[in-house]
Amino acid sequence: MSITQNVLLAKERIAAAAMAAGRDPGEIRLLAATKMNGPDAIREAIAAGVDICGENRVQEYISKAEVNAYGSCPVHFIGHLQKNKVKYLVGKVGLIHSVDSVALMEAVSRRAEALGQVQDILLEVNIGGEAQKSGVAVEDLPALLSAAGNYGGLRVKGLMAIPPAETVPGENVRYFRRMHELFVDNRRKKYDNVLMTELSMGMSEDYQEAVRWGATIVRLGTALFGPRNTMQEASSRGNIGRAEKADETL
Ligand SMILES: *Cc1c(COP(=O)(O)O)cnc(C)c1O
Repeated sequence: MSITQNVLLAKERIAAAAMAAGRDPGEIRLLAATKMNGPDAIREAIAAGVDICGENRVQEYISKAEVNAYGSCPVHFIGHLQKNKVKYLVGKVGLIHSVDSVALMEAVSRRAEALGQVQDILLEVNIGGEAQKSGVAVEDLPALLSAAGNYGGLRVKGLMAIPPAETVPGENVRYFRRMHELFVDNRRKKYDNVLMTELSMGMSEDYQEAVRWGATIVRLGTALFGPRNTMQEASSRGNIGRAEKADETL
């Protein structure tokens, strides 16, 4: 199947899952997770109707933006973010999905204020409680939500999660259900500077389930672009890692 066909199929499945759950399909946006995919693949996905492109690595985002790979399609940052990389993203990407500490909120807000802008962010929740994974622990989420009011350079639009890899199909439903609970409960609490309108969850293997549990953004990579070359992925990580180290000396 071509990228175009994959995008159309994903959009049909999102719409069907939404309607089955009594939701308006227009509430859900399809984000193409474009890591390891070049400008041609990205342009095809955009032409086929993805709503957003999402990048994981700052350096990859910069080099693709330089060749205008995204055209007028909105770009979000979905990967792990270090404070010293914030300057490459703030004011450039529409939404940063992966903010998970007060220190990172502060860095984003300070940069945005310097630019005279307000940066939209999501708070990433480590919903599986996995030791090596990024994201704020569920019990620490209230502290981050309360802190939002202190930072005029950002606006918290909602929550994001990357649940543990599924070993059995359907296993992630409990994580989606829990995220939906957090989303609804915290929306009711009306924290200062927190809108709680976006819930970013669901990837190639489980996005239809995520839509049933209230996702407003699903992030698809392999379902649109096919399997990533893991050898290439590993070696490019190495290269990007070195490039990023170089950035730190800027
Ligand atoms: C790669 C990636 C995705 C997409 O993963 P697939 O399983 O290929 O759909 C979604 N979210 C994040 C944060 C990613 O890094």
